[in-house]
Amino acid sequence: MAKDKSFAAKIAKAAGAMASHCPVCGEIKSPLFVVDSIKNEEKGSYKYKEAFIPICKCNQNEVMS
Ligand SMILES: [Zn+2]
Repeated sequence: MAKDKSFAAKIAKAAGAMASHCPVCGEIKSPLFVVDSIKNEEKGSYKYKEAFIPICKCNQNEVMS
């Protein structure tokens, strides 16, 4: 359960940090949770990088394509 709690906290923190208006388009940015898989060429294994990307009209097309 500790993992779930930290995950929820991470989302809440990211959402708080990103709940701001974009100075360019004026939309409120909303966090999109993305996971990138990164291959380790030496081991042939994958690891995953989790990140939140703030989405607004400026970048939603390129991010969500
Ligand atoms: Zn914008």
